[in-house]
Amino acid sequence: MSAAITQLAELIGSARRAVCFTGAGISTESGIPDFRSPGGIWSRMPPIEFQDFLSSEEMRREAWRRKLATDVPMRAALPNRGHRAIAELVRRGVCACVITQNIDGLHQRSGVPDDKLVELHGNSTYAACLDCGLRHELGPILAAFEADQTLPLCTGCGGIVKTATISFGQRMPVRAVERAERETLGCDLFVVLGSSLVVYPAANLPRMAKMNSAKLVVVNREPTEQDAIADLVIHADIGPTIGEAVGVR
Ligand code: NAD
Ligand code: ZN
Repeated sequence: MSAAITQLAELIGSARRAVCFTGAGISTESGIPDFRSPGGIWSRMPPIEFQDFLSSEEMRREAWRRKLATDVPMRAALPNRGHRAIAELVRRGVCACVITQNIDGLHQRSGVPDDKLVELHGNSTYAACLDCGLRHELGPILAAFEADQTLPLCTGCGGIVKTATISFGQRMPVRAVERAERETLGCDLFVVLGSSLVVYPAANLPRMAKMNSAKLVVVNREPTEQDAIADLVIHADIGPTIGEAVGVR
């Protein structure tokens, strides 16, 4: 075990209440590309802002075209060693909460129960009405869109239906943010895994934990915005690092 992984294992071993905070980087080992790595999604297509989605039918078509293209690979992806190690920490009662920026549902599929998970940016495995919030399943939406580019409307109120994710320019989910802040202030160890820490307000959380005297760990391939304030920084692949620290294959 390398010195850094030993140190991570020790920090986890002495934590009473840890939070794992994950970004797109935890899912790249499952084959889902992140946004900001070289070759990441945004080097190929810029994100669609919420206002543009609302105001333009063509943008909504583009959003659903992208969803159609990414839905099958996302569903085919399986949780990896990093997800499994986090789920094990939750099972052991060490990790009180997983706060994720991801929308892929892989933490749930690795066994993290809903009451231990906060999804800050929503979930792309289903859709919801922007007006009344009614949940809509993707299967029929994608089939209709694929057949003749039909844009989904809410069966309850006729409102615009969008994947249940938070786009740039869209209001953050109030209850999820509140819960994330509460968990952040209640932890004594905050572990960042696979986030460049440039998307706000999510990226406020590590700083908030540190200012509240929790230990802060960053595990990320590339340097992040908050390496300078962290107690331990490991620039390496997540799965092998956290997997070894926790003792999960
Ligand atoms: P990001 O793309 O900005 O940063 C990901 C970071 O992870 C990068 O710094 C990269 O160096 C690192 N990384 C990638 N693979 C790694 C690995 N195997 N081991 C260690 N480090 C690795 O992602 P972000 O900070 O999450 O912010 C972007 C936004 O993108 C988030 O809001 C998220 O909702 C969304 N997103 C989600 C998914 C998903 O659900 N899987 C995928 C792409 C983007
Ligand atoms: Zn509705």
